[in-house]
Amino acid sequence: MSASRPAAPAERVPAERVAVPAGTTCADAVATTKLPATGPNAIIAVRAPDASVRDLSWVPDHDVEVEPVALSSPDGLNVLRHSTAHVLAQAVQDLFPEAKLGIGPPIENGFYYDFDVSIPFQPGDLERLEARMQEIIKAGQKFRRRRFSSVDEANTELANEPYKLELIDLKGAVDTGEVMEVGGAELTIYDNVDSTTDKVCWSDLCRGPHLPSTRLIPAFKLTRSAAAYWRGNEKNQQLQRIYGTAWPTRDALKEHLRMLEEAAKRDHRRIGEELDLFTFSKEVGKGLPLWLPNGTVIRDELEQWARQTERKLGYQRVVTPHITKEDLYYLSGHLPYYEEDLYAPIEIEGEKYYLKPMNCPHHHMVYRARPHSYRDLPYKIAEYGTVYRFERSGQLHGTMRARGFTQNDAHIYCTYEQAKDQFLEVMRMHDDYYRALGITDFYMVLALRDPKNRDKYHDDEGMWTTAEQITRDAMEESNIPYIEDIGGAAHYGPKVDFMIRSATGKEFGASTNQVDLYTPRRFGLTYHDSDGAEKPVVVIHRAPLGSHERFVAYLTEHFAGAFPVWLAPEQVRVIPIADDLLDYAATVRATLLDADLRVELDTTDNRLNAKVRAAVTRKVPLILVLGRREQENESVSVRDRSGKEQSMPLAAFVKHAQDLVRDKSLDGAGHLRPVAPGVKGNP
Ligand SMILES: [Zn+2]
Ligand SMILES: [Zn+2]
Repeated sequence: MSASRPAAPAERVPAERVAVPAGTTCADAVATTKLPATGPNAIIAVRAPDASVRDLSWVPDHDVEVEPVALSSPDGLNVLRHSTAHVLAQAVQDLFPEAKLGIGPPIENGFYYDFDVSIPFQPGDLERLEARMQEIIKAGQKFRRRRFSSVDEANTELANEPYKLELIDLKGAVDTGEVMEVGGAELTIYDNVDSTTDKVCWSDLCRGPHLPSTRLIPAFKLTRSAAAYWRGNEKNQQLQRIYGTAWPTRDALKEHLRMLEEAAKRDHRRIGEELDLFTFSKEVGKGLPLWLPNGTVIRDELEQWARQTERKLGYQRVVTPHITKEDLYYLSGHLPYYEEDLYAPIEIEGEKYYLKPMNCPHHHMVYRARPHSYRDLPYKIAEYGTVYRFERSGQLHGTMRARGFTQNDAHIYCTYEQAKDQFLEVMRMHDDYYRALGITDFYMVLALRDPKNRDKYHDDEGMWTTAEQITRDAMEESNIPYIEDIGGAAHYGPKVDFMIRSATGKEFGASTNQVDLYTPRRFGLTYHDSDGAEKPVVVIHRAPLGSHERFVAYLTEHFAGAFPVWLAPEQVRVIPIADDLLDYAATVRATLLDADLRVELDTTDNRLNAKVRAAVTRKVPLILVLGRREQENESVSVRDRSGKEQSMPLAAFVKHAQDLVRDKSLDGAGHLRPVAPGVKGNP
């Protein structure tokens, strides 16, 4: 699982280049162009020929051409957000002089900064910090880069910042995706300089780049604070992290805050509890969800859909055990390399057994259990298989990231000649599933080898070339947009991840797929070809609906709990307006149950309005209100999610509801409501 993702397709538009003569600043060169110096498209940095982003104050030692970086471009936003993190840190040390500095990188849509303080920040503190930050921004402090001439010099100047000292010590061995402080060719510090007196107000160890001035921060907000361990390790000191966001315009900030609010409303952890989909219990353990009856309905419906889809495509189902002897994982290579991702082994009769972290090795053993001829291929086996992986408690997030989960898993064993079409079929399957669920915003990421880092990957060059070729051919033919992630491949081959965006713009890795030529050799997975020769198969790994835990979490946020009728745990609520109508209501309920619909009858003596409200709160898609007239005509009054009411004969309603289920209709589902046209979570 790679931590950082490349930007989604078509976000980086290369700008015109600007020539910078040796010995002069990029700022001077940019000033000779017509490019803006203020506003959302202000040029605030440059991209050097080596692809690094640099300050406008950079003075190249030979003539170069640079690409101007605008504030609202993806690179520009990173610079803006990270510079705002500096302003935050300065404000924190102004108001809390004892605070020690951790790290402060830009993140998706914002930034954070970690601080060692004796008392955690309170909500009121964030307001005070914002006010101080506004003053710093108004003052228009300049960011000025200064190079340390030696490590000793840096250590002396930063003697009061123990965390920065540690980073200097680690220089070269840190993840530069997160740590902005060090990792460049030089060790540098940025001074915040008063624009009138030229006096240094504050400094921070950093490799940059930054905005030329704090005045170029148009709009920001501190969003929350939380505890975080130094360098993400729970054995380390606990620090306090402040999160914030910054945008090129006030409107963009406002839109982002609205989106955050919507995301909070759609949070699957909140809706999951409110609609009784799942729960967690201290006694059962962290990251191990208990699926309640309502959530189980959704799982069952998804599973049935997958089974039907797969059966038509020639998949057969298998069942494999949850615990397995260590021998299998030595064969698969999970041991000893991935031991830390597994739960500690259980010892039985002197042998070690592990909880299974994935289904693949078991499926390979199923394939191997019988000889196969070319006539059997493709051989497709599927299982909703439950797996367990050890995730750090800090990484757990509702059911989105859990320690036990059940995957929509399957493996296709086929010949090399069949592999492209089989992989294409898998891609089309994703496409069909997503469209049926109203998920239209998705793309693929092709994870490839990093040619500069060959040790990470197996060394059979021919195998890499073939796997990449098959994968790419299928991707091209699928017409689904994709981007490449160099260095994201697994040890044994390239991967294709499907990324989908939720209604609030959040990006979500839905499934990982692979054309695997490596494992068949390791496991000895072969077939007898028509010429009598024994040949290795290709294995295709796929799980289009991911795991129930992650996918239902995603769908809950996607639909804001207002699931389409076919997935809704309760499809119909029957509400009689008076007690003497209970008999008719019971008849209606029985008719609907017979028609295979999920129906509940409200027998409380609440007022009609309260009963309707209760059903609306539970997000029941179809509410039937029964009065005397309905009883006389054997009809029902139907209220749908839009609030529209219409009367129809009971038999007509049964057909209507069945049609909605059969067609997997999205009528009234909650996947479209909040997003203004053209607005996405990412800039
Ligand atoms: Zn910095
Ligand atoms: Zn697999």
